[in-house]
Amino acid sequence: MNCFNHIKENAVASCQDCQKGLCTTCASLFSFPICRDCNKRRQQSEKKAIYKELFLMFVFGCVGYYLFSQFFGHHDSANLKTRTFSVVLSVLFGFYAGGALVAGWKTLTYITPSVFLFLPLVGWGIYFIVKFLLSIAVGVVMFPVRLLLHTRKLLSLKRL
Ligand SMILES: [Zn+2]
Ligand SMILES: [Zn+2]
Repeated sequence: MNCFNHIKENAVASCQDCQKGLCTTCASLFSFPICRDCNKRRQQSEKKAIYKELFLMFVFGCVGYYLFSQFFGHHDSANLKTRTFSVVLSVLFGFYAGGALVAGWKTLTYITPSVFLFLPLVGWGIYFIVKFLLSIAVGVVMFPVRLLLHTRKLLSLKRL
């Protein structure tokens, strides 16, 4: 097999995604043998996944903000100080909890073995509730961590 880009060169590896032949130069372009097109495709889907997660964090954050202010907020208080304090608290706890839920959920999905996918329906219900609660707990830490990692990743993807 010859290199896809350099027809005269012998292929020493093949692209992990499309199996096209790659010569020594082409195989060492990235940290593992992959052709330019497939690498670009992977980066694009990675970017998409990050934007999707950030969007979900924002949406769940807004829902969290809304719920928190409904139950604990005093947004309509006549006292400006109380009102401001109420909004700040809602952002701090409501919005944060919503974002944390998404961040924790993603983290747990990543580390949960697929064995759980064969549970019966009742198991699914319990699994869902446990995961939901665990997500918020894990997310409290993982929310800022994931935001940081995603921002860094987006910046590095933009540079390429
Ligand atoms: Zn390829
Ligand atoms: Zn080549």
